[in-house]
Amino acid sequence: KYFAQNRSLGDMALGRKKDKIQAVDDVSFDLRRNEVKGIIGESGCGKTTLLMTLLGLHEKSGGEILFNGRDYSEFDKEDWKRFRRSVQVIFQDPFDSLDPKMTVKQTLEIPLEVHGIGDREERIRDTLDMVELRPADRYIDRYPNQLSGGEKQRVSIARALILEPDIILADEPVSMLDVSTQAVILKLLSKLTEEQDVSMIYISHDLSTVSYVCDEINVMYLGRIVETAPTMDLLRSPKHPYAEALINAIPVPNPHKKRERTDLEGSTPDPIGLGEGCRFRDRCPERMPICDTTPKYLEVESGRRVACHLHYDHESLPRDTNGDAV
Ligand code: SF4
Repeated sequence: KYFAQNRSLGDMALGRKKDKIQAVDDVSFDLRRNEVKGIIGESGCGKTTLLMTLLGLHEKSGGEILFNGRDYSEFDKEDWKRFRRSVQVIFQDPFDSLDPKMTVKQTLEIPLEVHGIGDREERIRDTLDMVELRPADRYIDRYPNQLSGGEKQRVSIARALILEPDIILADEPVSMLDVSTQAVILKLLSKLTEEQDVSMIYISHDLSTVSYVCDEINVMYLGRIVETAPTMDLLRSPKHPYAEALINAIPVPNPHKKRERTDLEGSTPDPIGLGEGCRFRDRCPERMPICDTTPKYLEVESGRRVACHLHYDHESLPRDTNGDAV
């Protein structure tokens, strides 16, 4: 069991020297073997800060991130080396993430060299076969400019898989690809996580791609997780108004079937000085007086958690003289 718990982390300067924001705040989840977990949210919601913190590349200002039961703060040099082998990343932009001066073989050799792994040629060929770049001879000596966008992303996936990791962190892995290539890469990722016994955290702003590969989805808004649910449950019956708006924004393929849209008003508020209250309240069609207090992230059903006052037991809440929950 891998467990990541993150509280009040990710203070980030964002160019304004003295203004710090909590880019990720009070986020808590675990990732089990073979599980594929999605993190979805608009750009600026804290997804990338979360990813960098999980990789140990951002210093957290509090909380714990446990890997195989041990917190990062207890890691020595050897632990970090093992961690760097066990946790691999697939980046968003295959056009940027491959060195234009290196052939496919040279790109895939680097992680093997760093971790002192032998039988490199055989391993490279097997991994190219795994990501369906066949026959390997056709691709092994090519440079990135001799590959299509989809082939480049397959090389990035091969680089992530070649060390036989336990966890893959995928950061918008198909957003730079055309729609037909996206479908092929998503299918491949889904197949590989199943066959290779790998867990994955899949981060994206695109709910349709996240729902294709993930068992469970975490919806993030302004640094906090506002809803967590198994994928199909979330798609069928979202509980948080923001999750509902995201789902209603997915285009419906059948033009005769119309989905009721919940168009969000306003834009995401400035993350500086957010203070108390639900962070979504300025855009929420269901806003109530009590939403000026921060909702707790509570389990509302088995496997489902929501941070929204709509899902509290309001009978037990204190009320003002008008009868409004306070
Ligand atoms: Fe809307 Fe209130 Fe729920 Fe926030 S807590 S999402 S403002 S109903």
